[in-house]
Amino acid sequence: MRLPAALLAASIASIASALLAGCANAPQRGDAHAAVAAAVAIAPCPAKPKWDDPTAPRHIHGNTWYVGTCSISAILITSEAGHILIDGAIDSAVPGIEANIRALGFDPGQVRYILNSHEHIDHAGGIARLARDTGARVVAREPAATALERGKGDRGDPQFLTVAGFAPVPSVQRIGDGDALRLGALELTAHATPGHTPGGTSWTWRSCDEAGQCRTVVYADSLTPFSDKVYRYSDDAAHPGALAAYRRGIETVAALPCEILLTPHPGASDLFERIGPQASKPLVDTGACRAYAAVGAAKLDARLEQERAQPAPAAH
Ligand SMILES: [Zn+2]
Repeated sequence: MRLPAALLAASIASIASALLAGCANAPQRGDAHAAVAAAVAIAPCPAKPKWDDPTAPRHIHGNTWYVGTCSISAILITSEAGHILIDGAIDSAVPGIEANIRALGFDPGQVRYILNSHEHIDHAGGIARLARDTGARVVAREPAATALERGKGDRGDPQFLTVAGFAPVPSVQRIGDGDALRLGALELTAHATPGHTPGGTSWTWRSCDEAGQCRTVVYADSLTPFSDKVYRYSDDAAHPGALAAYRRGIETVAALPCEILLTPHPGASDLFERIGPQASKPLVDTGACRAYAAVGAAKLDARLEQERAQPAPAAH
């Protein structure tokens, strides 16, 4: 049975207020928020969703939540000291992301940091507006930090000629490979995983539930080689060290301690089949990062093979 949309919204709102009313003065209990997220069956996304098609928020594990769209992830990690949001989809998706945060009973104004997987419009395009709305500080690794401030990557981006620019972020705090960002009890580590873009970054943290059970979560960036007509991954003279860094990033993802894999496009890790009330696949899979890295490596090998078969036009 499918509930009419208005009834669905009303029932979510009443369940949310009933569950959360009692804790206005108490610390926010993850269980209550999780109950809100799990209370109602989630309407399916279109077969070919747009970047800003909205979908209901979902509980992932412990203090980790999905607040993104049908096709682009946005991940909320909550704490008593404030929250951290990873990725902002595109500008037009921001009202839906903020509504999802509120629907779970959290306050967007409590988001203290916004992080990014990679510096492309579909994951970074909403960050400027989210930062403005929430007052959060944006944190990124170079060269993504510079691209976020400019609203566009540079020729080091394999898709530089084909990917659109986005609203620039006025000020971005830098973080280094392997460095940790701390907020209260939260600690997220940045891992350089360039290749899809030069600033590609994967993030890891421990998510703990009310019972004190903790899991290692990996938000692994895209490892897929997409490019415009000019960029060649094999051309080390044009992009010194880029291919080797790409390989190292794939090895990094394969070697990460990994219990719950999340990805910037939910479909890349079957995320909607693994979370929420209709989950049909296991959430925890300690081999998921290795498998994801293997797919990335195979795609890169295929791409390099293709470049060998199509020699570059002579330099002129
Ligand atoms: Zn991208």
